[in-house]
Parts: sequence; C-alpha cells; structure tokens
Amino acid sequence: MAKNGVRMALFGPPGVGKGTQAALIRESAGAAHISTGDALRKAAAEGTAVGLKAKSYMDRGELVPDEIVIAIAKDILGREGRRGFILDGFPRTVVQARALDEALAQLAMPLQVVVNLQAPEEELVRRLSGRRVCVKCGENYHLESKPPTAAGACDACGGELAQRDDDKPEAIRNRLGVYREKTAPVIDYYADRSVLRNVDASGPADQVFRKIESLLGSIRG
Ligand code: AMP
Repeated sequence: MAKNGVRMALFGPPGVGKGTQAALIRESAGAAHISTGDALRKAAAEGTAVGLKAKSYMDRGELVPDEIVIAIAKDILGREGRRGFILDGFPRTVVQARALDEALAQLAMPLQVVVNLQAPEEELVRRLSGRRVCVKCGENYHLESKPPTAAGACDACGGELAQRDDDKPEAIRNRLGVYREKTAPVIDYYADRSVLRNVDASGPADQVFRKIESLLGSIRG
C-alpha cells in the first residue's frame, strides 16, 4: 500500500472494530484518523455547550443531530484531511453522507473507498459489553480478548479503566437498533456510487487489518 494520501471511510455497526482498524491503518498509512465519537467525547469532557448537548444523546445510544456532527467532521477534515484521512463512525446517516460528498468535492479530495466491516450481532454485543477504556489516556481494552496486565488499570499510563456509559446493556441494544434503522441505509448510498467494499470483521483484529491492507493495495495500485 502506498504510504500517503488514502481517503477512506470505515463503516459498520457499533462494536465491529472501526476504531481499532482506523488506528492500525493510520500507523501504516500516515493518514488522519477522524472519529466523530472521539471528538464528541472530548467536547463533552471539556464541558463545551456542544459537548454537553451531545452527551445526552450519546449516553442513551442515540445519534447526535446531523448538523452538530457534520460541522465537527468538516472542521477536522479541513484542518487535518490533506495528508489523507480515515473516517471512523462518520457518516452515520444518508444526510451526513451527502454533506460529506459535498464537502469533499469542495476540497477536491473525494472518497476512494468505503470499507464496510461486517460481524454477527452476538459478536458485536460481546465486544461492546467487554470493552473498557482508560479514563486518562483513552486506551481501549477488552475483558476477554485484550485484558490489562493488572485488573482495572491501564498498561500504558496506570489510569483507571471504566466502561463507557453507552457500552451498558440497554444503550448497546439501542445503538444496534439505531444502526439498523438510520445507519445501514448509508450502505445503499455508497453501493450506488461503486465505492463500497465488504470485509468480514468477525475474526481477530490483525487478521481483519491484513484484509483491509490488501484491499487498499488493490484499489490504489
Ligand atoms: P462511536 O465512538 O463512533 O461509537 O460514537 C459514540 C456515540 O457518539 C454514538 O453512539 C453517537 O451518539 C455519537 N456519534 C458519533 N458519531 C456520530 C455520527 N456520525 N452521527 C451521529 N452521532 C454520532
């Protein structure tokens, strides 16, 4: 794979591993990792007006309104997208997908590929409910597949590990329902534009990463 300039979106249901794969691709391709979820959590932690409004939706597993998320994504793309980008968790509605196309056309950097990560629902629930996140540095763990060396403490910085409010059982059910209803239709939007590639993401992260790398290699020549 060429080392610079990939312009892609990682698509798929909550828990499928978009964040994990985005971090791996960023390391190998040097592109900006743009996660609207991370940006919203940061704004909420800082207590900005937008962040506090967003938090009430996020804690319930609802989508944050399009206009808020579109403004955030455009801002980050404008600042960081020139060296290539990996969108993670955006777009999540057809309205967002259209706004993204327009913004990228204006910036003359259209999407090359949308990678649609797929895994069975029981695997998504297992991954989400076992996820723990360091409150200090944001590092992700999983109680079964990636446990910390000392229970409850981050290997990287020693910070406390916590469960995201939206990884609790009721919010997980809600997020999967919202995905089916509002986000899955985005698949058709991209399939119609011939940029969609499906990838089986039910296996371990390194295996999924190898599939994505080979796909990117074939697309970018
Ligand atoms: P994530 O970290 O991508 O799972 O996002 C966590 C939460 O942030 C989601 O459940 C939504 O509440 C909100 N969020 C993130 N990205 C978007 C988006 N593109 N559209 C609407 N809400 C979003």
